[in-house]
Amino acid sequence: MNFPWKVILRASLIGTLYALAAPVYIVLGAVRLNRLFEAFVTIRSGCLTCIHCGHDNVLNRLATCNRCRATEYGSLLYCSFCGQVSRYLPCGGCGVTLRVLPGAGAK
Ligand SMILES: [Zn+2]
Ligand SMILES: [Zn+2]
Repeated sequence: MNFPWKVILRASLIGTLYALAAPVYIVLGAVRLNRLFEAFVTIRSGCLTCIHCGHDNVLNRLATCNRCRATEYGSLLYCSFCGQVSRYLPCGGCGVTLRVLPGAGAK
């Protein structure tokens, strides 16, 4: 039986690849963590100010769910009936879509 050079070579190449990719993943993780923290601060404040028109959009008020049509007092971002989580809100002032939570499509 030969010494498994191929296995050792493959493992060392994969290990090198992970070592080179680790800093990139660390930076991407830090950016994502920062976006989540900013979203957390916005949700905790209960108000999202539009960057275009300056309108203060209150996050906790009477709202109707887009999916199940339930109407309740609470967060605009979460429906307690069907569990729908909204990442975006239309601005009450100018109608532009505001991103609250980072998610699919976030750069
Ligand atoms: Zn719902
Ligand atoms: Zn606006």
